[in-house]
Amino acid sequence: MTLTTDLRLAEEMRQYEAEADVIVVGLGCAGASAAMQACDEGAEVLVLERAGGGGGTSANSGGLIYLGGGTPVQQAAGFDDTPEELFKFLMAVSAPGPDELKIRLFSEGSVDHFHWLEAQGVPFKRSFFPEPSMESSTDDCLVFSGGENCAPFDLIARPAARGHKPMTEGKAGPFFMQCMLAAVARRPLRVEYDVCVETLVRDRDGRIVGVVARRAGHEVVFRARRGVVLTAGGFVMNEEMVADHVPQLGRVGTRSGTEGDDGRGIRMGAAAGGVLLRMEHAEVALAATIPNRLGRGVYVNEHGMRFINEDTYYGHIGIEALFRQGGRVWLLLDDLTFERNFMGQEPAFVGETVAEIEAEAGFAEGVLQATVEQYNLSASRGEDPLFGKRAEFLVPLESPPYALLDCTVETGPYSGLTVGGLSTGLHGEVLDIEGGPIPGLYAAGRTAALFTGRGYAGSGISLADASFFGRRAGGHAAAQSSKG
Ligand SMILES: Cc1cc2nc3c(=O)[nH]c(=O)nc-3n(C[C@H](O)[C@H](O)[C@H](O)COP(=O)(O)OP(=O)(O)OC[C@H]3O[C@@H](n4cnc5c(N)ncnc54)[C@H](O)[C@@H]3O)c2cc1C
Repeated sequence: MTLTTDLRLAEEMRQYEAEADVIVVGLGCAGASAAMQACDEGAEVLVLERAGGGGGTSANSGGLIYLGGGTPVQQAAGFDDTPEELFKFLMAVSAPGPDELKIRLFSEGSVDHFHWLEAQGVPFKRSFFPEPSMESSTDDCLVFSGGENCAPFDLIARPAARGHKPMTEGKAGPFFMQCMLAAVARRPLRVEYDVCVETLVRDRDGRIVGVVARRAGHEVVFRARRGVVLTAGGFVMNEEMVADHVPQLGRVGTRSGTEGDDGRGIRMGAAAGGVLLRMEHAEVALAATIPNRLGRGVYVNEHGMRFINEDTYYGHIGIEALFRQGGRVWLLLDDLTFERNFMGQEPAFVGETVAEIEAEAGFAEGVLQATVEQYNLSASRGEDPLFGKRAEFLVPLESPPYALLDCTVETGPYSGLTVGGLSTGLHGEVLDIEGGPIPGLYAAGRTAALFTGRGYAGSGISLADASFFGRRAGGHAAAQSSKG
């Protein structure tokens, strides 16, 4: 059983090591945000972090943060974004079953959140970087990171780039968390490292009033007067939980996580009665079309048929490929469109004709040829009636030799991240089976279910969610009346 941890009773606790108004479990992006907000609202805060330093997976990330609605960077780069356009995009990309209230809250609070991040010392250059989907190689900030200018979203909401990268060259996660941890250090809050929280403590009234942790092999108990915020990462590194909840992700070679993503935060919340949400979903990136020009090729499934507009965000492609095409997809390019992708992937098959490739790769006779014939016909007219690929990506594939990249999940460049976790309310309160808050218990970041629901809106949405809803959780916990 992967979902049980103990729950300890307050009356059994003989001695508390220390106490605070708010205890935050884990010091990644969500934990830092929750701790700072709780502290700013007057609470005495104690952060418990199992590693020897803060940062978590956030410090290993690309550092893109999904923000919109008219941030100063968007304005400087000439994007006319509004909270309503951001809302429309997030609702569409999160379907089915989007969390409308959270999406509304985030859309309306996104510009303020940008200013809050800057006030913490996270700088953003007022600039746009044209290559979409991932963090810029320069210190430029803004990228299209969720296929906002691609079908079908371009017709649903006015396209705007929303992936904001803190001002540093290349991957920005380490720099982002360095800024956040420095902001934590400027506040009068306490952080204890090398303390692994294992269990929550509940009182007779069902309120969470503390945590039991392990430090240097010994059990230590901490008391929380107002609340405990679980910001201990997701479960992508827990094989058993992945197999139980999102087995498709088990086939993905690269897990976007670190050691701390072992699901303990989620399991502690579940043991306290927290409901789990969207555990069967994941973010899955299939990074074969970086640079984006490679989207001029054609993705096919095992039936030799197209299944998506290849120019879109590789996260949308990865989710479609893994969850709906069984992880059995290939990318066909010709001499004109071929170049080495970001991963340096070698073609699995090369042939002078599509028929040759089709036979070598073992597709049923004629299917790949029919796909390419139909695609070339519409591409020559500048149209993609099936998936709406943009005109500049529509080049008939008619320059041999042809190359087929193996993008099956076992060999292709996939990476994945869990998005399911504890179900939370608008203030980060962990919800029980009745939909009511568990008193004293909060969660944010990947310990909670991602607010955008089933889709993964775009690169940057996890850090956006962790920081935005982390702050709300910390702030709400701080506002509770002290217990005892
Ligand atoms: C290579 C890579 C690139 C990525 N790029 C991006 C990107 O550009 N934009 C984006 O939005 N997302 C990105 N992600 C995903 C993103 O990094 C994570 O989803 C996000 O950082 C989660 O933040 P968090 O605060 O919930 O967790 P974390 O940052 O992992 O923080 C959790 C903390 O809790 C601690 N902890 C765990 N268990 C316990 C315990 N029991 N007791 C005490 N402490 C505990 C951990 O040590 C850790 O410090 C990327 C991920 C990877 C791996």
